[in-house]
Amino acid sequence: MIRGEGTSTVGILGAGAMGAGIAQVAAAAGWRVRLFDVDVDTAQHAIDGIGARLEKRVARGRMTADDAAALVERLSVGDELSQLNDCELFIEAIVEDMDIKVQALQGVLKHLPSDAIIATNTSSLSVSDLGEGVDQPERTCGMHFFNPAPVMKLVEVVAGRSTSPAVADRVEAIALHWGKQVARCADTPGFIVNRVARPYYLEAFRCLEDGLCTPDLLDAAMRDAGGFRMGPFELTDLIGHDVNAATTRSVWTSWNEPARLSPVYAQEALVAAGDLGRKSGCGVYDHSGETPIAVLRPGQDAPALTKALTTVATDFAARASDTAGDLPAPLQVALMRVLCGLFNEALWSHADGVADETAIDTAMRFGVNYPRGPFEWMAGIGSDTLDATFTVLANDVDAGRYLRP
Ligand code: NAD
Repeated sequence: MIRGEGTSTVGILGAGAMGAGIAQVAAAAGWRVRLFDVDVDTAQHAIDGIGARLEKRVARGRMTADDAAALVERLSVGDELSQLNDCELFIEAIVEDMDIKVQALQGVLKHLPSDAIIATNTSSLSVSDLGEGVDQPERTCGMHFFNPAPVMKLVEVVAGRSTSPAVADRVEAIALHWGKQVARCADTPGFIVNRVARPYYLEAFRCLEDGLCTPDLLDAAMRDAGGFRMGPFELTDLIGHDVNAATTRSVWTSWNEPARLSPVYAQEALVAAGDLGRKSGCGVYDHSGETPIAVLRPGQDAPALTKALTTVATDFAARASDTAGDLPAPLQVALMRVLCGLFNEALWSHADGVADETAIDTAMRFGVNYPRGPFEWMAGIGSDTLDATFTVLANDVDAGRYLRP
């Protein structure tokens, strides 16, 4: 049971993109929020920004002016850490650096009630190491929101080695009360979403390198036949190839460099050239005109397609989606490779004890808006087709990448 639901207070440290978004989510659910930053002006700026966003919602008739005013009323800038003395939850959302996070938490601890939960929004650091670093492992828990926090529905609740189950349960209850979907997972590199999503990008780049498709055709196939909101190339252009490739490297090295997660040359070359995507004006697409134009070319002219590959791709495509059966053979193979990459990473994550199947499906549906969770999708395709597909992919494309657990 959440203590004093509706009148609870959360302290948030870090008023950047994530801290501000989380503050809005908590205040929308009726919580009082104390927002801190090294720079008090940043925290005030964040609250002003929330107010401005809410005004637009009011103008569009999506929210009443009274509700917007009440929400903003619940937000305050923290100028003294002693103002944390009535917080039942504290969330750190500061710079992604373990030493800085430990140091900041040490400064905060003496001001928090002794039973307050310490949550971290880290994407890539160990929740266990952070909890142990401040000597509070039982009450430290990961509460991983996605960007933008007011829009994205998922929170990964990450229990560290010594996180008390009661603390993780309470963080889950709070996230649900704040209107989020929850995926519970273990404290492992990339948690669920940032690990399972890797093949969506990596396998797409490999298909391009193998000459199976142009970027625009694969993006369209993944949207129209796959049901994804964005194709892998337009999405990585939006995320930024430097950010996307760095996440790949971090997850790949942390999991002992499996072939499945290895960085791809074509994307590394974009980063080296400074072609980072939309933010630099060019990436896989040239963004200088009104419509993006695909400029990254396939690595070879004609794809090497075996009869076995096209045969399993036809069966796979028909079972994976209502419309993928209409795609030309090379795109069916590409769609099959990308989806099977995702499925395999979900299987390995499950086998590695990251999360159960339901949590992985929830995470992928609500953390990155996939049309279906990988396990639900695999169940619809059926084990006979999957067995035949993975056997051919291992024989004809890459034995290491398509080895299932
Ligand atoms: P950001 O750079 O936008 O904001 C960080 C804020 O923390 C800044 O306002 C900075 O002034 C403040 N800060 C830095 N050191 C501080 C300290 N010692 N004490 C108080 N305030 C301090 O960063 P962000 O994108 O909001 O990310 C914050 C955290 O959330 C990171 O751990 C990041 O990995 C994680 N995260 C980010 C995203 C994302 O897409 N941006 C998504 C999920 C999780």
